[in-house]
Amino acid sequence: MKILVVNAGSSSLKYQLIDMDTEGVLAKGNVERIGIDGSFLKAKGNGKEKIFEKPVPDHTVAIELVLNALQDEEVGVIKSMDEITAVGHRMVASGEYFKETTLVTPEVLTTLKEKTFELAPLHNPAAVKGVEGCMKVMGDKPMALVFDTSFHQTMPKHAYLYGIQYEDYERYGVRKYGFHGTSHKFVSEEAIKYLGKKAEDTKIVTCHLGNGSSISAVKGGKCVDTTMGFTPLAGVLMGTRSGDIDVSAVEFLAQKKGLSFSEAVNYLNKQCGVQGISGVSSDFRDLIAEADKGNERCQLALDMFAYQVKRYVGAYAAAMGGLDAIVFTAGIGENTPTVRAAVCSGLEFLGVEMDKKANEGKNTGAIREISTKASKTKVLVIPTNEELVIARETAALV
Ligand code: AMP
Repeated sequence: MKILVVNAGSSSLKYQLIDMDTEGVLAKGNVERIGIDGSFLKAKGNGKEKIFEKPVPDHTVAIELVLNALQDEEVGVIKSMDEITAVGHRMVASGEYFKETTLVTPEVLTTLKEKTFELAPLHNPAAVKGVEGCMKVMGDKPMALVFDTSFHQTMPKHAYLYGIQYEDYERYGVRKYGFHGTSHKFVSEEAIKYLGKKAEDTKIVTCHLGNGSSISAVKGGKCVDTTMGFTPLAGVLMGTRSGDIDVSAVEFLAQKKGLSFSEAVNYLNKQCGVQGISGVSSDFRDLIAEADKGNERCQLALDMFAYQVKRYVGAYAAAMGGLDAIVFTAGIGENTPTVRAAVCSGLEFLGVEMDKKANEGKNTGAIREISTKASKTKVLVIPTNEELVIARETAALV
């Protein structure tokens, strides 16, 4: 069975074609600059890469281009569209309307548009354009929606509610939803397999540390808490997002800077985080390079990040009543030993004993144990694979 995984943004469309027998990637690529001059598709397949330059006014044309590339003489890997069993679409926000992976129907699309667009105005409308483009080009091919929020649907009410009037939660759905769910699901499942324990006996903290970062508490294989909230702004400070902040400080800042409330939220999303603290970059590679040269604000940004992640690891160990493993994943989590070491330093009281050499070893793309053999709590680096989760969920549904 072959599953096409589609991740559509407002001006880009990433895809992977996955062979479910081997779970290997047959082909992948990215259509860039949709609706903008100079659009193109960079496609990989058969061990080759090819650029398709063509005007791509909308997501329907983008999907046509992808299907042509999949059947191309050089980088193509299929003879016809019939070889694709189904399509799995990444969807960011589900609100309380979709608790799990869902097949696309006209009713589902209506609910998505009417109820979830306002929850993720940047992401969900773009993803739906991807779905509708596929429907136009691929006819009645089964399509599944895989939500970033689904894995967090098992959080108990006392974890996901904010301390606001209960009626406002009921009326408007204002609560913590969490994000990066496919990644937290994938790495926690891999960790459980690695630990060789029964899922119900495990207590794991998963740290997805990338340009956007979130940390989850996974008890018995189920998410019981996570750091992102109603939107991805909450939790630890990130590349450009502030993370948690007192709302009264935002009101004060908005007054001082002459910003409307939505301008202030935009500032918190796009101009803060480690970028705002360092004044140098949102990219951790730049921060580490500059901190090594003595830039104190870059070092401060790194210290704040590691401290905030550590604080959540401790909080979640308390929430779960113990800790078997800490998992690091995503761009920073997989590639930055200094951040992992800083997060784990001082966690000896939780049974963590780091293996310095293993932590500084190369990223092999496989699971790596970076705690000592004697460490009661394991520390693992697990490369994430969100596309594979989307493909697995889609295959299971169809
Ligand atoms: P992501 O959003 O998962 O792609 O992660 C992006 C972040 O990961 C950026 O801050 C990068 O600096 C960081 N990152 C990615 N690759 C590396 C690497 N090889 N070494 C250090 N940091 C990296």
